[in-house]
Amino acid sequence: MSIVATEKRDIRALSLPEMETALADWGEPRFRARQLYEWLWVKMVKDFDDMTNLSKELRARLKEQFTLFALFEDKVQHSADGTVKTRWITHDGHRIESVLIPVREDERYTVCVSTQVGCSLTCAFCATGRMGRKRNLESAEIFDQVTGVNAQSIEAFGRPLTNVVYMGMGEPLLTYANTMESIARLTAPPPQGLGMAARRITVSTAGIAKMIRKLADDGFRSNLALSLHAADDRKRNEIMPINESNNLAALMEALEYFYKKTKNRISYEYIAFERFNDSLEDAARLVQLCRRQFPVRVNIIEYNPIEGVVFEKSDENRLNAFAACLAREGVTVTVRRSRGKDIDAACGQLANKG
Ligand code: SF4
Repeated sequence: MSIVATEKRDIRALSLPEMETALADWGEPRFRARQLYEWLWVKMVKDFDDMTNLSKELRARLKEQFTLFALFEDKVQHSADGTVKTRWITHDGHRIESVLIPVREDERYTVCVSTQVGCSLTCAFCATGRMGRKRNLESAEIFDQVTGVNAQSIEAFGRPLTNVVYMGMGEPLLTYANTMESIARLTAPPPQGLGMAARRITVSTAGIAKMIRKLADDGFRSNLALSLHAADDRKRNEIMPINESNNLAALMEALEYFYKKTKNRISYEYIAFERFNDSLEDAARLVQLCRRQFPVRVNIIEYNPIEGVVFEKSDENRLNAFAACLAREGVTVTVRRSRGKDIDAACGQLANKG
């Protein structure tokens, strides 16, 4: 496959009515647009030449005027624990990653998708943040990750995806329109979309207060996860520069607003770093953040050390004591053992290495 940078418009950026108008201008009958739409969104072809019920002339004209910015599989890695990491290549030569996390006991097959090429937020513990941000992913490129990984899940485990988490490379709320458009397509009934329940989708944010409020105002129906990672501003500033402009007070107010308006599920993601945020005092501060005007659950995540980063993974005893302290105070807490470590697919490790 050759990668060509082009000024042509992506055909998948057109809605069905826009396709109808474009093809009507070329003298094509109305049903042609629906055929084209089905090739693009139901059969998910990646080349105009595969649209066999369109005439050769029409295909040539489409190719001349438009392009099809699909994702192509670049590399697939399988972890010993069943996790599958896929590296995709975009039409303009960027590489991005998605991760399939199967939990067979619970019949849960989750894909973690990327929303940007790299990330601008430079969290201190994250490999993606070190790449810088190259560009946002188009909604179709986010959707392609889900359909591609869905096919992998069916092939490997005989089961389609049950959950989608927006926790891969990038900050989903900084590419808001594309994130929302991709969710609209995931939740749209077939054949337009995958018919996935909105509650099976979780968007994870590093914490941008005004965008959390916007989600609420826009009638967002999915779950929201805040990558908290520290329960006081001093420590959070140290590892997540975004906290300097979106401190915990602002985030808590935004989450309260979000919950009041949507009643959607909120969780805090909390990576435990050895002797940085895993003491009992840290746990007590986190308990306070869980006692706000909205219910919240906490996911404590095992850290996967990254080359050149000073943070270490919390010692098992400290991590257990931390979690026990939260549970004693009535907080709903889960400890997530890291998955896909051996293929750099775990939280914070996505950086196109392998
Ligand atoms: S943790 Fe998320 S928000 Fe922070 S740099 Fe990494 S990808 Fe960006």
